[in-house]
Amino acid sequence: MEQKTAKLTVDKAGMNRAAELLAAGGLVAFPTETVYGLGADARNDAAVAAIYAAKGRPGFNPLIVHVADLAVAEKYATFSNTARRLAAAFWPGPLSLVLPLRADAGLSERVTAGLDSVAIRVPAHPLGHGLLMAFGGPVAAPSANISGRVSPTTPAHVLDGLDGRIDAVLIGGACDVGVESTILSVVGDTVALLRAGGVTIEQIETLLGAGIRRPADPDTPQSPGQIASHYAPAALIRLNATTPRTDEVLLGFGEHPQAELNLSPRGDLAEAAANLFAMLRRIDAIATTQEASIAVAPIPMQGLGLAINDRLTRAAAPR
Ligand code: AMP
Ligand code: MG
Repeated sequence: MEQKTAKLTVDKAGMNRAAELLAAGGLVAFPTETVYGLGADARNDAAVAAIYAAKGRPGFNPLIVHVADLAVAEKYATFSNTARRLAAAFWPGPLSLVLPLRADAGLSERVTAGLDSVAIRVPAHPLGHGLLMAFGGPVAAPSANISGRVSPTTPAHVLDGLDGRIDAVLIGGACDVGVESTILSVVGDTVALLRAGGVTIEQIETLLGAGIRRPADPDTPQSPGQIASHYAPAALIRLNATTPRTDEVLLGFGEHPQAELNLSPRGDLAEAAANLFAMLRRIDAIATTQEASIAVAPIPMQGLGLAINDRLTRAAAPR
């Protein structure tokens, strides 16, 4: 049955209502610096099950737990010295750490999909962070979109996919990082990249003073949710396109007179990341109306370019 999704203002009353809904086992979409998250009380089995149902997300794909600070995170996961260094440097911020789950964590098993590790992060967005403070507990939150679709960076994107399927959305602004968090597995001193994201691998390696394992390395653990096709628009996508064919609309990067939309005309990767999901949605609508497909200009594989190329590769993957 369709329910009504409340559009909550981001004043004190709206934030308190959002926290109340979470406490009652409801689903609330809220802004973070990466994308909009779909939050539920991470200790409440039924609430967490409702996230999977609303998104149509496969049950084997565990969720990231969002908490207010490192002290709260230590209630749920065991931190090695290396994990603590990473948290001190990058929290609050777009970094998720996959760490050993504490036996006394009390999180729903659905959050971790039954694994003995948990992914955890402290978001920097003042509204996302404010909600965690008002709620006072751990919030499981994947991106607030139908599973496999393009992630939301505005409340309108959230409502596009989930209106009537969730209890409320906090009406904040657009997300400024625009791609999801970087996910690192940290086992003792061994650090492996599970997903590229808002904190760059260069920043992480500079902090640690050493290289970290990459997804292609045979020794890197797998992240169960990194399935190939994801972020899929309706139109087909061709990557690393320098010139669009006549049946294509071009999503540009850098100087591109032929581009229908441009992620960053000045070739700035942070700007491109912030624009990525909104422009993918817009160019998909244009391509669909024109019965065209989408071509995307090359984007350098450095800094945030790793995360951008990862999302584009999965948007273009066979489905
Ligand atoms: P999403 O919420 O869609 O941004 O995806 C969260 C990602 O975190 C998924 O790819 C999950 O597979 C990954 N993840 C969450 N918990 C774990 C875990 N315990 N071990 C490895 N990967 C995890
Ligand atoms: Mg997602």
